[in-house]
Amino acid sequence: MRIDTLRLQDFRNYTEQSVAFAPDVNVVVGGNAQGKTNLLEAIVYLSRGKSVRARADRELIRFGAAEARLSGALFSRGRDFTVEARIIAGRRRVLTVNQVGVKRAAELADVLGTVFFCPEDLFLIRDGAAARRRFMDQSLSQLRPRYAAALAEYNRLYEHKTRILRDSEEHPSLLDTLPEFNTRMALAGAVLIHYRARYCARLEYYAAAAHRECSGGREALSLRYETVKTVLDPFAGQNVLFEQLMAHQQAHAAAELASRLCLSGPHKDDILVEIGGENARQFSSQGQTRTAALAFKLAERDIYQEITGRSPVLLLDDVLSELDPRRQEFVLNRITGGQVFITCCEEDRLGSLLAGKVLHVEQGQVS
Ligand code: ATP
Ligand code: MG
Repeated sequence: MRIDTLRLQDFRNYTEQSVAFAPDVNVVVGGNAQGKTNLLEAIVYLSRGKSVRARADRELIRFGAAEARLSGALFSRGRDFTVEARIIAGRRRVLTVNQVGVKRAAELADVLGTVFFCPEDLFLIRDGAAARRRFMDQSLSQLRPRYAAALAEYNRLYEHKTRILRDSEEHPSLLDTLPEFNTRMALAGAVLIHYRARYCARLEYYAAAAHRECSGGREALSLRYETVKTVLDPFAGQNVLFEQLMAHQQAHAAAELASRLCLSGPHKDDILVEIGGENARQFSSQGQTRTAALAFKLAERDIYQEITGRSPVLLLDDVLSELDPRRQEFVLNRITGGQVFITCCEEDRLGSLLAGKVLHVEQGQVS
C-alpha cells in the first residue's frame, strides 16, 4: 500500500499544498519548524483518524482558519482510494473513503496502515506501563477492528465506573449500577486480553530477532505479557478470561469502594521486557533499551505484514539522527520493501546517505 498524492488545506502551517510522493523512499528535508513533522502527521491522520501528537483535533487547523482539509490518493489492495478528512473547529471531524462517510477510524486503517516512529518512541522500554499499553493498543487497533471496538467500550466503561465510584459518597444509589458495569468491563476486558496475549507472542518473536541482529548477536530480548493476577493463562478462552476477571473484580470490590478507584481490569496491563534475563526497565543501559525500542517498532511493521500480507507505510520522524551509525545502518537496511518517509534536517549528513525522492519543506511549502 502507498500514498501517491496528498493535498493539505489549512492543516497546521500549510495553507494550500499538493504533494506527489514516490512509491518507495521519500526523504523530507528542511530546517527546524518548517513543517516536516506536520507533513508526516497528516499522512498518519489519514490512516488513524487522529493525530500522533495533538491532544485535540482543533490544534491541527491552521491558526486563524475555520477548518482543515486533508485528501490523499492511495493505492491499496490492488485498487485506488481517495481518503479525506475535514477537521472543523467545535465539531466532530468528517472522514470519507471514496466520498462515502465512515463512522469509525478503524475503517481508514483498512485502506492505509502506518507505522510511525519518532524519537519519543526510543523511550518505550524505559517509560511506565502506559507507554507500552499505548503501543499495543495503537498497533492492535489498526489490525483488529474488534479490538478497537472493545478498547473504546472498555475505556468508556472505565471512565463511567470511575465517576460512579467518585460520586458515590454523595449519591450512594449510584452504586446499584456497579454490577452491570463490572460485567460489561469483564466482557470487553476478556477481548483485550485475548488479543494482547497473541500480539505479545508475535512481538517477542519479531522483536527478539531484530534485537539480536542489531546487537550483533550479543543480546537476547524476551517479553512477557502481564495482566490481571487472576488470569492464569491469557491464551485461555474468552469465557474463562471473563470468569477470572469477574473473580478479580469481586476480590477487589471492597478496596475499590474504599479507595474510590477502579482497581480491577486490564487497564494496568504491561509488557515485561528482559534483556539477557534481567528486567530492562531497571537494569539495562540506555543503548540497550533504545535497541529494544527500535526492535519493537520494526516488529510492529513485521506483524502488520504477517497479518495483512501488506506492507504498511513507514514514517520515521527524526529517528535516524538520534541513533548511532551502527543502529542507523541497521534501520536503513530494514526499511526496504514498502513506502517510507524519513525526515531529516538540512545540515544532517543523513540526507546524502539516503536514496529517494527528496521533498524540501520550507515555511509550510513543499518543493
Ligand atoms: P523540527 O525539525 O524542529 O522537528 P519540523 O519541520 O518538524 O521541525 P513541525 O513540527 O512540522 O516542524 O512544525 C512547523 C511549524 O508549524 C511550527 O513552527 C509550528 O508553530 C507550526 N504550527 C503548528 N501548528 C500550527 C497551526 N495549527 N497553525 C499554524 N502553524 C502551526
Ligand atoms: Mg519535526
